[in-house]
This record gives sequence, structure tokens and C-alpha cells, in this order.
Amino acid sequence: MSKRSFLSLDDTELATWLAESSTTHAAALCSAGHVTPRPNTSDLPSEVPAASGIASSVPSDSTSPTAFGSPTAHRESACEPNLRKNFRVSQIRRWTDQVGVSTFEAMSNLPKALRESLSKTFTLRTTTVLEHQGTPEDAEKLLLQLYDGERIECVLLRDDKEHRTACISSQVGCAMHCAFCATGMDGVVRNLESWEMFEEILRLGELLPAGERLTHIVVMGMGEPLANLSNVYAALERASRSEDSNGMGIGARRITISTVGIPSGIRRLAELGCRFHLAISLHAPNDELRDAIVPANQATGIETILEAAQYFFEKTKRRVTFEYVVLGGVNDSPSCARELVSLFRGKPALINLIPYNPVKGLPFHPPHSSTVAEFSEILERAGIEVAIRYRKGEKIDAACGQLRRNRT
Ligand code: SAH
Repeated sequence: MSKRSFLSLDDTELATWLAESSTTHAAALCSAGHVTPRPNTSDLPSEVPAASGIASSVPSDSTSPTAFGSPTAHRESACEPNLRKNFRVSQIRRWTDQVGVSTFEAMSNLPKALRESLSKTFTLRTTTVLEHQGTPEDAEKLLLQLYDGERIECVLLRDDKEHRTACISSQVGCAMHCAFCATGMDGVVRNLESWEMFEEILRLGELLPAGERLTHIVVMGMGEPLANLSNVYAALERASRSEDSNGMGIGARRITISTVGIPSGIRRLAELGCRFHLAISLHAPNDELRDAIVPANQATGIETILEAAQYFFEKTKRRVTFEYVVLGGVNDSPSCARELVSLFRGKPALINLIPYNPVKGLPFHPPHSSTVAEFSEILERAGIEVAIRYRKGEKIDAACGQLRRNRT
């Protein structure tokens, strides 16, 4: 990557950069006897309230000579660097995070010189789309090449309830080695940066037609999000920033972090007052079976995970979802269902049964639909809330990790 990712800049860094570049700019203009025009009122992001001091600092009559022509105007603008800077920051953020433009050129209400200088220093996209599979009716998957040549996958899912869901990866590869999963087959390469995850969201948003926007985010792609907690959290906080704050405005309740179940990470999320939804990939009702299909369990055990989940619930008042990938002949027996009942009776949980999506080269197969129905009934009869989630996207190797593997 020759230029720095613009998305990696936080607001303070952006403000500093603007201050430094505009100082040079202003000084040059000053010595040349020019006047720096104040922002045109049409430049103002509509969400900046007059009370913030930004809108009120801009004359209502933008054509008045005091606004644009006189030396007074220039002195004023030079005296108000913070105001101007904050105004620019929110203007630019609105373009990058809310509108999701991929070039600085498209930021039509910025001065040309600023757009040029931003383009010279930064890039808005560090990924390249290597492959785009699928259809809007089913699911669409992108294989993205990162700045260092590594590859990740992300998926866009649409349903008839007008949900538009971005399923994003949190790591290149995964260290968890779940026996049935394509991603874990080759181990982990590195964590994704928060801005790389944000870019996945933007890339998926770009697949939607004009007028449609992403409504949900699930961190259920490649990787273990709680092994990269700070970056994942930062990316999601950014995506959930309200539209009033120039954000994407995807409400925290529409965002789900799916974890293999790392108790310390779950507790840390609880301490952070996590507003996002938490899903734990359980997949087995006892340690013996879980140790075999989810090796990370050998270090934790189900009990510790359930205690951490309870702590999360108490701290955040958010009910935890437990995912259970149903593997034909492995964890789909009525006795497994009854064991699950004794684990969850009386607990505030929702269980999602996910029929397995086969992965080439792995010895697992999907369950019969009648087996899944029977499994689900046993849970329901015991008063446990359960949902069967058919994974979309079989045509696009939607079990994450498959496309990346098939291309290497
Ligand atoms: N590491 C995290 C998130 C990535 S996996 C986790 O373990 O939750 C996201 C979900 O997809 C997990 O529940 C995982 O078990 C499930 N999954 C992975 N491969 C699958 C497959 N081939 N078929 C169905 N679900 C799968």
C-alpha cells in the first residue's frame, strides 16, 4: 500500500492533518494577499446544529462581501481554526462513513485543493475485489485482497424482510481449528485492523443498489473476533455511530459478534458495557463431544463459557444466542437435544440450529431435515427458545473460508 488508509485515521488525527495542511495553505494564501473563503452555507452538513457554533459562525447570507471578500473575513477564519477543522472533519466523515464514497474526488462540497491534497496523501480503499460470486436472491460473496496480499471473504445476505446483512471476517484465517470449518484448516495469519473490517462493510454496501443500505452486521466470517477484540469493537462502534454523528447508523442491536466462546473475552465485552448482540458457537452439549469438534474447548470447558455468558447477560441485560451447527450423525441425536435442555433450562438463551454447510475435504455432512425438526421440538417442548437457521449461499461456498481455500 503506497498511501495510508484514510479509514485508519481517527477524528483527532484527521483534525491534526487538516490543521497542518491548512496552516501551510493559509500561510501561502496570506503572503500572496489572497483571502481564504469561509465555508459556503451549502457546504455545511445538515446535521450540524446551529448551537454547536459552527453553523452560527457562518453568515446566513453567504454572498455578503464580509463573508467572502474582505480581509476581516480572512482574519476571522484564521482565528477560528478549530471551528473550521471540526466542520471539515464532520463533512469528510459523512462522505466516508455515511455515504461511503470511494474517492475523494466525489466529495463534492470540499474545496478542490483539499480533495487533491487528500488524494495525494491517502487512499479510501486498500482492498481489491478478486472475486464476486453469487446473486442478490441468494447471497453474494467477495474475496478481497488486502494491502499485504492476504485474502479474506465477506458476504452480503438479503432477505424478504428487507434485511441487508454484512457478514464480515475478523482475522485472516483462524486459530480455532473447529473440525468442520473451512477457515480453521490453515490456521491464522494475522488480525484484521479495525479499518479493514470497516472497509469490508463499505465494500458490501457498494453491492446494494442506490437507495438501499445495510441494516445488519454479523461478525461470522473468517476468524475469531474475541481474539481480535479491540479492533473488532472499534470497527463496530464506528459502524454503529448514528447518522447524526456522520456515521453509518447501523444500530447496535442489529450487530452480532459470534465467538467460539473465549470466557475472558466475553467478560471483557461485558465490562465494556457491550451494546452489540453476542452469539456463542456451542455446537455440542457436553465437553467430550465439544472437545472433539471445537478444540478450543479443551482449554475452557462449557461450564466456564456458560458462566461468562451469564455474566454478560447480567451486565448488559442482553440475552445471548447459542449457535449449534447440526452435523449429521455427530451432534444431532435426541439424547444430545436432551442434554442441551438440561444445560439451558431456566436460562435466558436462544438456540440457533444451523444445518451444516458441507466443506470440500472434510468428513462431515448435513443432517436430515426431519432430524433437525425433531431436535428442535425436544428443545421447544422444554420451554427453550429455538430457531432453525438455514445458511444461504450454498452456491457460493458460503461457509466462510472455502472461497479463499479454493483460490490458493
Ligand atoms: N469464530 C467465530 C466466528 C466465525 S464462524 C465463531 O466460532 O463463532 C461463524 C459461525 O459459522 C460459527 O457458529 C461457526 O460454527 C459456523 N460455521 C462455520 N463453518 C460452517 C459450516 N460449514 N456450516 C455451517 N456453519 C458453519
